[in-house]
Amino acid sequence: MNSDRQLPGTDPTRCQDPYSFGPFQEALGQDFWSDDPELARLLAHHGLDEQDALTRLASWGQYVASTAADGADRCDRPENLPRIMPSDSYGRPHPVGVELPAETSAVLAASLRAGLAYEPQVMLRYALVYLSAQIGDAGVLCPLACTDGLVRALQELDAGEPGAAALQRILEQPGDEPIHGAQFVTEAQGGSDAGTNRVRAERQQDGSYRLFGQKWFCSNIPAQYWAVTARPVDAPSGSRGVALFLVPRELSDGTANGFRVERIKDKLGTRSLPTVEMTLDGAIAYPLGAEREGLSNMVRIVLSTSRFWCAIAAVGFIRSAERVASAYASFRAAFGQPIASYPLVADSLARLRRSRRELLAANLEILATWERVAAAERAGQTPAGNDALRARLLIMMTKMTCTRQATALVHEAMMILGGNGIEERFSPLPRLLRDAIILETWEGPHGLLTARLLLDIQKYGGADAPHGLVGMLLGLEETTAEVQSLGDELAELLHDQDPSRQMLSFSRWLERLFLTFGAICWKQVDP
Ligand SMILES: Cc1cc2nc3c(=O)[nH]c(=O)nc-3n(C[C@H](O)[C@H](O)[C@H](O)COP(=O)(O)OP(=O)(O)OC[C@H]3O[C@@H](n4cnc5c(N)ncnc54)[C@H](O)[C@@H]3O)c2cc1C
Repeated sequence: MNSDRQLPGTDPTRCQDPYSFGPFQEALGQDFWSDDPELARLLAHHGLDEQDALTRLASWGQYVASTAADGADRCDRPENLPRIMPSDSYGRPHPVGVELPAETSAVLAASLRAGLAYEPQVMLRYALVYLSAQIGDAGVLCPLACTDGLVRALQELDAGEPGAAALQRILEQPGDEPIHGAQFVTEAQGGSDAGTNRVRAERQQDGSYRLFGQKWFCSNIPAQYWAVTARPVDAPSGSRGVALFLVPRELSDGTANGFRVERIKDKLGTRSLPTVEMTLDGAIAYPLGAEREGLSNMVRIVLSTSRFWCAIAAVGFIRSAERVASAYASFRAAFGQPIASYPLVADSLARLRRSRRELLAANLEILATWERVAAAERAGQTPAGNDALRARLLIMMTKMTCTRQATALVHEAMMILGGNGIEERFSPLPRLLRDAIILETWEGPHGLLTARLLLDIQKYGGADAPHGLVGMLLGLEETTAEVQSLGDELAELLHDQDPSRQMLSFSRWLERLFLTFGAICWKQVDP
């Protein structure tokens, strides 16, 4: 409606004292890098302080806060969500069956060119990811995380000439269309228990395979290259019978490689990303690594990478929620004073700030350990000390803790905004909340990770040397108070003969351990 028009019987001069949200909007700023000096401090602590890297972060911080954030807002609107497309504009079968929204595709292309999926300096790569996550659109992060995992898999595992060609195209990004990856493990009968995979792989005479069966959650199906788990016909049942394949989405003539999109999921979050149920009907597939190590390679390389992405994205979500809540609490007044001065609001803001900085510090420490392991393996050496075990356990812990914290803290930030926190177009908070829940579910929900961690901690000496294990994880001497207290608790719960009670105590212990780890990591930067 034209706001200048006067309605019959009204007097516009009586309505001319509108409340302005301008100062709040201005306080949000347009630059995610320069408004976060603590990120720069943490990166410097880990040795990332060259001018070239800082310049790239500064320019990316501006791009994501403006162009990418606007695109994410538009893609998330109900009228712009992806739809099934059975045919193209000329009546031919559509080569994918769905399309990414144009803006998601543009942000994805820019992110790939900026190095988010394969920048060799990992501190820089994941600092860029952290900035991107702050727009609160895991629909863009998912394809990037999958691409990072696929690149790592293609660099480490043999997939013959098709693998080398895929890797080259992804790393070179020729043309405007983004070249990216996807990963399809989950089937209708279960995602956590991937050893039950039923999709069948039939070997061809030339050594390639054809895949038959249904995958139940396929995000990012528009990706050109997929990592897919399937069971070769002569393979044993269970996890060891699940192999890993590289599947190009298109055949060389541009037609679909033997798959059909059956349905788009109607999802709570990551709405700009089409997640589909898909039937594989003879898709040509190339073995990626040794057949009997398929599932373990998928978990070790691809899913571990995605789990770390979930964690760093979750901390980016917390940062975004903190920014919105702080700006609002300083701007908004109630009963004559800024709401930031009320103790309960101030306490929530302090919790957001503390959690964000400690969890970010934890993730960068994990990243440094993980990269030492990867560098040793690339050089054909054995990783030093307990680095490999430490990285493996901490990646599972950070995925679980950070995603859970993100959901709770985004919710807390929404409450600071009252009703405006619920309004979809007022701030990114509603999208952050929806996508935080997706981060919790992806790549191993909490129950699965907790069960896996308990097995690992029992296997790697938790019961015999609990203080040594805790000290190794926290990076502290065994004599410190934190190690003594958490080590005593671990010893007690591991000797509990009641498995249900043991699992519940372990779950609470895990969270305490990880939050302590975060506090220690931040203290090293800010004693
Ligand atoms: C938006 C979205 C997009 C997705 N995209 C993809 C994709 O692209 N590719 C893909 O492969 N998958 C995808 N997934 C699937 C996702 O990875 C799975 O949902 C997840 O792995 C869990 O599997 P599930 O849903 O079958 O749950 P289940 O495995 O059936 O788990 C159900 C519950 O049981 C618990 N549980 C399972 N095992 C144990 C255990 N040992 N101990 C204790 N508790 C346990 C879990 O914690 C969970 O709470 C997507 C999911 C979502 C929501």
